[in-house]
Amino acid sequence: MFEIGLENIERAAKALEQDLCDHCLGRVFAHVSTGFSNDERGAAARKAVNEMRVNYEMEPLEHVSCSVCEDIFLDLDRFAEAVALEVRKIECHNFLVGTRVDPVIQSREESLWSRVGQETAEPIKVELNREIGKRASALLQKEVEFKAPEVVALVDTRFAHVELDIAPLFVYGRYNKFSREIPQTKWPCRECRGKGCKRCDGTGKMYQTSVQEIIGDPLLAAAEGKEHFLHGMGREDIDARMLGTGRPFVLEVSEPKKRDIDLVAMREKINADGEGRVAVSELRFSSREEVRQVKTDSPEKAYIVDIRFKDKVNKDRVIEVVRSLDRTPICQQTPVRVAHRRADLERAKSIISARVEELSDEGMRLWLRTQSGTYVKEFVHGDGGRTRPSLSELLGIPCEVLALDVVEIIDKDTEA
Ligand SMILES: [Zn+2]
Ligand SMILES: [Zn+2]
Repeated sequence: MFEIGLENIERAAKALEQDLCDHCLGRVFAHVSTGFSNDERGAAARKAVNEMRVNYEMEPLEHVSCSVCEDIFLDLDRFAEAVALEVRKIECHNFLVGTRVDPVIQSREESLWSRVGQETAEPIKVELNREIGKRASALLQKEVEFKAPEVVALVDTRFAHVELDIAPLFVYGRYNKFSREIPQTKWPCRECRGKGCKRCDGTGKMYQTSVQEIIGDPLLAAAEGKEHFLHGMGREDIDARMLGTGRPFVLEVSEPKKRDIDLVAMREKINADGEGRVAVSELRFSSREEVRQVKTDSPEKAYIVDIRFKDKVNKDRVIEVVRSLDRTPICQQTPVRVAHRRADLERAKSIISARVEELSDEGMRLWLRTQSGTYVKEFVHGDGGRTRPSLSELLGIPCEVLALDVVEIIDKDTEA
């Protein structure tokens, strides 16, 4: 049984100058010792106070109605059932209970603390969350999870109303893009900003589809979620393909009602729907933490660039120049084509390595490995002198980019 200790009997007697339920009395002594519930502490404290009163030939105190909580704890089962009812509507492996408590009750608790001290006390919210959580856990046969719950059931104790806050579902993967006509993310129409107009044929979009939609739509449907977001490890231009082992991404689905999604079946569906345009691999469940990682990683990348020489070249000179590109520092002023949406800055980047794949009088196929964030098209044509040195400058003739593909994202999974 809970031993309240001599020093605390005085405080308990003082607390009981106002009528309190066992929970509200016990909560004042919540941190005196562990291993008891607050109502056990309260019952023991009341017993000790009443024994003392009997010794002094005073009437024992009877509990009628709690002056702090109005005996809200009698409703714990009702709250737990309301939580279970809502949580059962969705698929989850764990949950957490939160409560919204009438501010009047909280201020009554604070005035009790001001009379008897707060040093060993616990706030009512904490006890309600825990006690409702315990009961709901038994009803649902699911664990209460404090750190990363899949769903938080928020109980408004005034109305026993429960609202669910469902954590998003995260799926990691790598994608390939085989089309030069689709953007990475959904792109709202510039004219109508997504409402639908003549320009976008009522779709509200600049492009009919995107990597995000091809991957996200089937996942959203399977998870019965609300919206999807694609977090890519960088992005390629619309007209660049993403080949090789693909680009890492995390697809986020908000408010999913289903979580146990068959990712093998999803991969097959996405790859069938996306045939010739987008393919995914390595799908697995992920986390918000990994989104941060994917967004901040800055891997080196390898490219294949098809280049047209706009003037006569000496092939030996071309080979010599390309050979000299290894570990070349370059300076890039924000390209003209993105200047409207990016700050105009000068960036120091470098070409890690380069080699000629094919070469003719008209042009060449160049393989390039560069530091993250290098503007490859601009490195080739020079962007009117905004990238220096550029391949055009080094060759002494204007070069045009015919096609660009990302062939490798060299992150921790692909690094040899
Ligand atoms: Zn109470
Ligand atoms: Zn439009």
